Parts: sequence; C-alpha cells; structure tokens
Amino acid sequence: MTHNKKIYQYLNKIVPLRKCSDHEFLTYVETDNQFYHYPLHVTDLKKMPDKKKIKKELKKRSLLKIKNSKNMEDFWINSIGKTLYNKTINTYNKKMWFVDSTKKIDTFNWSPKGATLKSGPRAAWDKAISCYPKKLNGYNDFFDLPKKRNLKILFNTNFKLISLKNKIFEINKVKKKFDIVISTISPDTYFKNKIYGELKFIGRDFHKIVFPSKEIFPKNVYFLYYANKEKFTRLVEYKKFTKHKSNTTLIGMEIPSHKGKHYPLPIKKEIEKSKKYISKFPKWFYSIGRAGTYRYEVDIDDCIEQALKLKDEINNNFFEGAFPIKKWL
Ligand SMILES: Cc1cc2nc3c(=O)[nH]c(=O)nc-3n(C[C@H](O)[C@H](O)[C@H](O)COP(=O)(O)OP(=O)(O)OC[C@H]3O[C@@H](n4cnc5c(N)ncnc54)[C@H](O)[C@@H]3O)c2cc1C
Repeated sequence: MTHNKKIYQYLNKIVPLRKCSDHEFLTYVETDNQFYHYPLHVTDLKKMPDKKKIKKELKKRSLLKIKNSKNMEDFWINSIGKTLYNKTINTYNKKMWFVDSTKKIDTFNWSPKGATLKSGPRAAWDKAISCYPKKLNGYNDFFDLPKKRNLKILFNTNFKLISLKNKIFEINKVKKKFDIVISTISPDTYFKNKIYGELKFIGRDFHKIVFPSKEIFPKNVYFLYYANKEKFTRLVEYKKFTKHKSNTTLIGMEIPSHKGKHYPLPIKKEIEKSKKYISKFPKWFYSIGRAGTYRYEVDIDDCIEQALKLKDEINNNFFEGAFPIKKWL
C-alpha cells in the first residue's frame, strides 16, 4: 500500500502490480460475536448491541481534546469514545505491543481531527494505491535484479565489526575496509556493549494452516483481525493476493512474540534511544529499512523510497546523514 505514485510506478515497471484497493479489513469482537470493519464503518454501529451508549459517547467528542491527546488511549477514547475503544483498540494493541496499557504507546501520527468512523466504501485503502505483484513468482524479479548486474552477493554470511569509525568488517576471516555501508538491521547491532540499552522489537510466530476449500474468507476480505484475548492478532488468506488457483487455501496465523525483529516499538523513549545509536554512525554509513530506521511506519514503499534517494546521494557523491529521507529523522 502506498500514497507515493512515483514508487508505485517504479515498482510496477519491474514487477507488474495488480491493484487490490477493494480489500476490506474485518475485526472480530467477541463480546458482540460480530465482525466489524477496520477502520470502523458507520454501518457497523447499527449492528452493535450497545449502539445507544456509543452514540452518546460519540456526541461528546471534542476536537480540542483529540488534538491534545498524549498517547494512544487518549487519542482513541477522545476520537471514538470508551465503548468503541474497548471493543476494537484496547486489547488488540496491548496484545500487539506487549504493553499493559495503551497509554504507553505515545507516538503515532495522530490526526488532529481524530480517527473517524468511515462512511462510503468499506475498503480500508480506497484512497491509497494498494496492490500486489501479478506474476506468480511475486516480488522475485525485483530481488533478482542484482543478479542480472553481475554483482557479488554473499548470502548466509556472518560479519564481525572491527572498526565502526573506519567501516572495517571481517567477512569470511578476511578484514575489509568499505567506502559505503548500507545497513538494514537494528542500529544497536554495531554496539557490542549496547551503551544505551538494547533496542526493543516485537517479533512474530507464524503458523500455516491449509483448509480443504477453494476460499474461506468473504469476498474482498484478505485479512481478519482479532481484538480479544486470543493469542493471535491476525489471519491472512494469501490466495486473495496471489490469485493462486487451487482446491485448498493457505491461511497464515500471526502471533506476537519475542522471536524476530519485525516491529520497532512506537514509543518515544525507544525511538530516541535508536537515534543515539544512529548518531554514532560515521560518514557514508546508511541505516535504512524498517529496522534500520527503527520506525514501525516504514513499509515496503518507504524502503524503496529510501534506497532510491540513497542511490542519488551516492551518484552525486553527497552524503547527508544515515537517513537519506529526512522525514524519518
Ligand atoms: C507480518 C508483516 C506484514 C507486513 N505487511 C506489509 C504490507 O502489507 N505492506 C508493506 O508495505 N509492508 C508490510 N510489512 C512491512 C515490510 O515487511 C517491511 O517494511 C519491509 O520488509 C522492511 O524491509 P527491510 O529490508 O528494511 O527489512 P527486512 O525485509 O526485514 O530485511 C532485513 C533482513 O536482515 C536480516 N537480519 C536482521 N538482523 C541481522 C543481523 N544481525 N545480521 C544479518 N542479517 C540480519 C533479516 O533476517 C532480514 O532478512 C509487513 C511486515 C510484517 C512483519
């Protein structure tokens, strides 16, 4: 998904993309035994057993309060009221971020007008470009580009940092000094004694389940979210994206875990910590991608945007800092 037309056009040339802007997110709310849309849609309210209470709470909304929200809990309660917040946001986010209160989530691009109840199309990304590769090999042609250019790539190879300041690494027992380093891993990896403390990430356990049906989720639904105490956050029916033809369907279950560094925390203290590490990187040492930027909001389109900007800087022999795109500073 992207709002960036240029990045869409760039990728679409290499990996022709099929638009899927019609897809809807559904969230299961156990107390109501109902699936509701995410973002919440006005028609969902009619299905809720406590709709009168919700309407009263919605009437009490104040723009000033929303604008002054300090954390995730404040923002959502001020935007949609306590009842809707408890149904859809509270437990889901505590589970997603391993926190005991959503007050701890203190960064997010708050909209000063608050999160609205959607009307019109039910699709989550009807105003963005949402797409997936048309070809059955997915994104492979993009990742195979370096092979065509005869570049030397070392897979499954460990490195040892010898000198950060001089960009010297030991690879396969040979010490090498590099002119440019482009890192896409957690910035604290380069600091053995983790002077500012370890950077926190949330990981995922993934389970794959095959079902004996051509399709399981309703039409236009690719993701199902679960906002209750079940351990998983999301189920994904991959076939909806890939259009793979089969009499069976593969469902992926995502369970938040401490395995893997998939999600940097959207917490100011952690982001500030990542900046301290990044400020120690020498000239011509880039830190990009989701983990390298240490920002949860960095998606595939942002990674490509960062890489293209960095390419320009290298071509023009002009290094501006570890982050080529300044909005992430
Ligand atoms: C479940 C899930 C769903 C997502 N869905 C979408 C989506 O629909 N659309 C979207 O745009 N984005 C999505 N994202 C985000 C997207 O996947 C990331 O933004 C993107 O993959 C980041 O690319 P990257 O190159 O920075 O990092 P990655 O793709 O994570 O690559 C980093 C690589 O570094 C390796 N690595 C890590 N540490 C070390 C180390 N110490 N030494 C050597 N190697 C190391 C990792 O194994 C990995 O291969 C999703 C992410 C997740 C987790």
